[in-house]
Amino acid sequence: MTDQTLIILGASGDLTARLLLPGLGALLATGQVPGLSLIGAARDDWDDDHWRRRVAESFGDGVATDVAERARYLPTDVTKADDLRRVLGEANGPVAIFFALPPAITARACDALLDVELPEGTRLVLEKPFGIDGDAAAALNSVLARLAPEERIHRVDHFLGKSTVLNILGLRFANRIFEPLLDAGHVASVDIVFDEKLALEGRAGYYDHAGALADMIQSHLLQILALLAMEAPTTLEAGEFRDRKADVLRATRLWSKDPAACSRRARYTAGELDGRDLPAYADEPGVDESRGTETLAELVVTVDTWRWAGVPFRLRSGKAVGNSRKEAVITFKHPPRIPDGLRGCDQPDRLRIGFGPDRLAVDFNINGPGDPFELDAVSLEAAFGPGDLPPYGEVLRGVFDNDPTLSVRGDTAEQCWRIVEPVVSAWRAGDVPLLEYPAGSDGPADSLLSESP
Ligand code: NAP
Repeated sequence: MTDQTLIILGASGDLTARLLLPGLGALLATGQVPGLSLIGAARDDWDDDHWRRRVAESFGDGVATDVAERARYLPTDVTKADDLRRVLGEANGPVAIFFALPPAITARACDALLDVELPEGTRLVLEKPFGIDGDAAAALNSVLARLAPEERIHRVDHFLGKSTVLNILGLRFANRIFEPLLDAGHVASVDIVFDEKLALEGRAGYYDHAGALADMIQSHLLQILALLAMEAPTTLEAGEFRDRKADVLRATRLWSKDPAACSRRARYTAGELDGRDLPAYADEPGVDESRGTETLAELVVTVDTWRWAGVPFRLRSGKAVGNSRKEAVITFKHPPRIPDGLRGCDQPDRLRIGFGPDRLAVDFNINGPGDPFELDAVSLEAAFGPGDLPPYGEVLRGVFDNDPTLSVRGDTAEQCWRIVEPVVSAWRAGDVPLLEYPAGSDGPADSLLSESP
């Protein structure tokens, strides 16, 4: 691998400090990216030393000290072409530009880059949410297409870290036992849930404009859906793998023409979680209550293909939820006929794929102790092997390897907005009530996951 430069636009932000630099440190510690130069840029009036200290602290003792010691920081307004030209002038070799910026600033930085000559082979790395709606995503895609070819544009969805992708693909396509059952003939529903205990934690500046639907469902959970519902690719090479994912998302639409029937939105009120008093979302510093941002969203969609038509895929994500639950659950239909005399088979069979901790469980009914005609519900569990890098380490490895397999292709990003847009419009128009749930509870009582749509 030749010398190259990573430029982080938004070097002083939360993403850079919490996820990007630690992920970069973990990747550099493997020795896979020799000769990397690092440049940080943001408007803050920092100097090289300040940035170097932050980088070294994030990397940890003794990790990639050469990269941290040589790192440069340039005070920059990324919306100005002259500033961006100056930053690029400091780079060695091929360049990867990571836009760790608010979405609206990313769009303006890309516009400004149209007036800057980019070095040959430049890769552009963009964060989610990609655009703030379908029109914005399409406009951003057309600017990006003028800046670099699609295979050098990495739209990050860190849920698509290698281990999540391989856990699902390996389970489905490297085994014989589950795949033949994964279709509308056998599956009653698929739930993809990401409920977290984490509340707003000071991130109103970003989150109050996004909300749970854009922050989690439009991005991460639809990507997981694509992996669960896609047909088998013949290879994991980027082109074909991303084609199969795109096939699924093109066929995905709302379960009902009425968004009120297939979506829920809710916001947490004050409550207690793990012994901690949490203020209501609306009272958090920086939140504009009139925006009506949801902290929990549910959406039911169908994948309108021969394999899946008629199976509800129920997606849900919430903040400040007492029961942290991060998993995809495939619930199977009941057997067509249970012999008279067998009892205790009311619970349907389930395949559960956990994301953090990464584990697999199969729930089914077998003969338990005592009366042999009385069946017991049991669960077989196995842990997936952990990935060798944290998700942002995997994201960056893809960037440095020029491998966009794990990034979201432009057409797919637009499809994800297309799927949720009728819901966004109905929510904006007030057609779906904003429910409430106390922080620390399991969410609103009126959940779409507790009924058969
Ligand atoms: P943030 O904490 O608000 O940081 C934004 C960064 O952009 C700051 O460094 C800010 O510095 C810089 N910036 C803003 N305007 C600028 C300008 N005109 N010129 C130069 N720098 C500018 O936001 P974040 O949480 O890091 O999020 C960044 C992106 O990552 C967002 O798209 C978000 O959705 C995504 N993301 C974040 C997380 C997370 O956990 N934080 C997770 C996944 C994805 P100055 O204002 O001082 O210049």
